[in-house]
Formats: sequence, C-alpha cells, structure tokens
Amino acid sequence: MIDFEACFSSVPENSVLILDNAIPLGAYSNIDMSSQHAIRKNLKLSDPHTCQKFIDQEMSRLRASVVYGGYLEKRNLYLGNINFQSGEDLRNIHLGIDFWTKVGTKVVAPLPGQVHSFKNNTQRGDYGPTIILSHRLKNFSFFTLYGHLSVESLNGLYKGKRFEKGDILGALGSSDINVNYAPHLHFQVIMDLEGNEGDYPGVCSQKDLQFYKKNCPDPNCILKMN
Ligand SMILES: [Zn+2]
Repeated sequence: MIDFEACFSSVPENSVLILDNAIPLGAYSNIDMSSQHAIRKNLKLSDPHTCQKFIDQEMSRLRASVVYGGYLEKRNLYLGNINFQSGEDLRNIHLGIDFWTKVGTKVVAPLPGQVHSFKNNTQRGDYGPTIILSHRLKNFSFFTLYGHLSVESLNGLYKGKRFEKGDILGALGSSDINVNYAPHLHFQVIMDLEGNEGDYPGVCSQKDLQFYKKNCPDPNCILKMN
C-alpha cells in the first residue's frame, strides 16, 4: 500500500492556500512554539494574552501576516488545561499545523471534500467550532479537521455538503469562542476518525506518538508550504 505522504508527493502542485486568498504566500512565516523555545524565552504560552503578544511580536519581527507551524511540536501551550493530562501521560505533542492570524480571517478548503461532521467543542482547551471534511484521492480516503473557527462557520452546514478547493469554509474565531486561545486555525489530517464526530485529539502523549503519527500524517503533504 502506498502511504499518504507518498501519495501527495506525487501530486505535482505548488503551495495550496488554506486562508483568505488575499493573503499572499509570501506573507506566511514559520514559527517555533516548542516548549524548548518557550522555556528559553521564558514564555507562558498557555496564557492566551502572553501567546497573542508572542504571535504579534513574531509577526512584526518576520514581517508576516500569518505565522504557522507546529506539526509534532512538543509544547507547553496546554499546561493548566486539566483535560490534557491523564495521569502521567501529558498530552503535549501537537498533531496538526496551526495558522495564527487575525480573528475573522477566512478559511478556505485546501482540496475538494464533503462535510463529514461538525461540532462546537466548548470545553476549555478544546477546538471550539470545528468542521471535519472527508476526501478521496487515488483510492485513499482520509479526513481533514479545521478547529478554532467562529460559531457562524457552522451555520448552514450539513453532512455531505460539498466544498471545492478554494471555497470558503468559515472564519477564525475569537478567544472567547475558540476556546481560550489566541485566534488561529488548527488544521489536521486524520486517516481513521475512530468513530469521532466533529472532534478528534489534536495533541498526544509521547506514549501514543507512534500511533498518532501514522494516523495523522503531516498536513504539509497537502499544503506544500516552503
Ligand atoms: Zn493546534
């Protein structure tokens, strides 16, 4: 069986936008939000105000409108959120790519798909309003998850609703809606949803990393940023 990453590497395509097409690719910059970096800089990123300040500083330092990154990044962003800790298994390894930019920024479908499920995950530290699309490509079926959206993004959705590449999916939610993060899109690829609807773990513990790494391949296979 060819794997997901190999499947996408055979798609001859340039970078694919996932936010408002009016923001050019040159305005995106990669950032480091790892716990190592946060400790070095003495940043408590689990506080949304500190996090926002860090994002703003990085945007101005890099002259970027969008800063992004974080696939398999070990973070201390989630400390203090009790639902990220189960016994000794601290879930702090990030399974998607985050795109940090202004609240209200449009999110567009990076590839054609249809709505699998959607939900407002309102617990602190969750995704807030979330959409999951299902896709088929070369006999592969897989899912993409869009988290931390606005409440309005879920209006008019129904299971099976079709989106073409570039169609507007929704917009970034504010901290009170998204739930308690600086505004950003969480984008994740999922091979097997394991029965979930409108939600799926976005971080994992070191113990479960091998499973999740395989089940949630690098979203950059689709986006081809860099
Ligand atoms: Zn995220």
